[in-house]
Amino acid sequence: MALSGIQIYKLLPKTNCKECGFPTCLAFAMKLAAKQVELDKCPYVSDESREKLAESAAPPVRLVTISADGREVKSGNEIVLFRHEKTFYNPCGLFIRLYDDEPLEEIKARAEEVAAYSVDYVGMPLSIDGFAIKATGEGAREQGSSGAAERFAAAVEGVLDTAKLPLILIADDPAVMAKGLEAARGTRPLINGATADNWEAFADLAKKHDAPMAIRADTVSGLAELTEKITGAGVQEIVLDPGVRDLRSSLALNTLIRRMALKKTFRPLGFPIISFPSECAADEGMVSIAATQAISKYGGFIVLDRFSPATIYPLLVLRSNIYTDPQKPIQVQPGIYEINNPVADSAVMVTTNFSITYFSVANEVDGSGFPGWLLVADAEGMSVLTAWAAGKFDAEKIAKTVKTTEIADKVEHRKVIIPGHVAVLLGELEEELPDWEIKVGPREAVDITAYLKAGAWQ
Ligand code: SF4
Repeated sequence: MALSGIQIYKLLPKTNCKECGFPTCLAFAMKLAAKQVELDKCPYVSDESREKLAESAAPPVRLVTISADGREVKSGNEIVLFRHEKTFYNPCGLFIRLYDDEPLEEIKARAEEVAAYSVDYVGMPLSIDGFAIKATGEGAREQGSSGAAERFAAAVEGVLDTAKLPLILIADDPAVMAKGLEAARGTRPLINGATADNWEAFADLAKKHDAPMAIRADTVSGLAELTEKITGAGVQEIVLDPGVRDLRSSLALNTLIRRMALKKTFRPLGFPIISFPSECAADEGMVSIAATQAISKYGGFIVLDRFSPATIYPLLVLRSNIYTDPQKPIQVQPGIYEINNPVADSAVMVTTNFSITYFSVANEVDGSGFPGWLLVADAEGMSVLTAWAAGKFDAEKIAKTVKTTEIADKVEHRKVIIPGHVAVLLGELEEELPDWEIKVGPREAVDITAYLKAGAWQ
């Protein structure tokens, strides 16, 4: 059972040494009780206290890891319901489902296409995390036959031969799953198919192959009962499938499960959730909406049937935005960036090191075809206007950037273009950089091409 802040405090050394980063042991205890800090931050907890605190310190949502060939998908360890409260740590995994009744060559071709997909978003490569492979020959006719198991194993092998990405194996029959797991040897897949009727057989497979397992139940209390049985049987990494397949119920149950885990420290529901947006709707637009909801509201492993860059890209960007620490803006390294092979008479432009600002400007200069030197000032990862308003992108900072980058050694002219949004800095900057002519560029990145084309800066 979770301990209160005062109960935790009584188990701490009470020296107020501050090494944990908090001014007092009591402050640390309060944070520990709120799951906002890890016990390891205090190096002086006795072994006896550590044991007593272990339960309280354990993350309220269990971390589940699957992997293949060095690539991992981790879900869990979250401690807040809303990203603005702190941050979300482990981005949900996005998986494309392949069915084993497709011709093997077609399965491999799809796997190859999905694995090859990668896009650059503000300097971060975004791609699909892995595949879910579904056994389809498990109906009454083929139940128990070896044909279903062989076909499943062949699909698993074929996918791994093509692209070694983390897998979710989906099969209702433990015998079929066993074959799939053999084919996936050397990887750590999530095994999906356990229910109240067959969980023992799946738990045996999970233990034998050291794989996490997903369980499905029609009620939240059913899920909680199952996880207690399964953890009691020795499987600790569990993923929850609440069973519902419509937008409203998925939202309600995912939220209920996460609230119970975080706010009530209800361990039987303290596990990541798997979502199947493609089963929520036939229409692709609605599937995208269901996937958006799952990414936003507590889906840990998200399985989609269709792969299309047009629908996957916004989902990957959404995930990236939700799982970015709001307290740490995405930044690029300050310095000089050369675009289109600039020479001594090329334009010199200044911007800030907020990633989206940098990539907006850099892409526009690149697209314009004009060579340019882009000086990126350290504005603590803020955009131009925000940084200016916060005093992080002022005349002094711009002058310092011009000097420390030593751009004067690279160009013959002495003209520097500042963003139109900070035209107000013109006078001050002329004082800071008396040898330079300050030019006011466009306010928006989209107008850079026209500005360079007009040659107004020269
Ligand atoms: S490091 Fe430990 S002993 Fe020191 S202030 Fe923090 S909780 Fe107290």
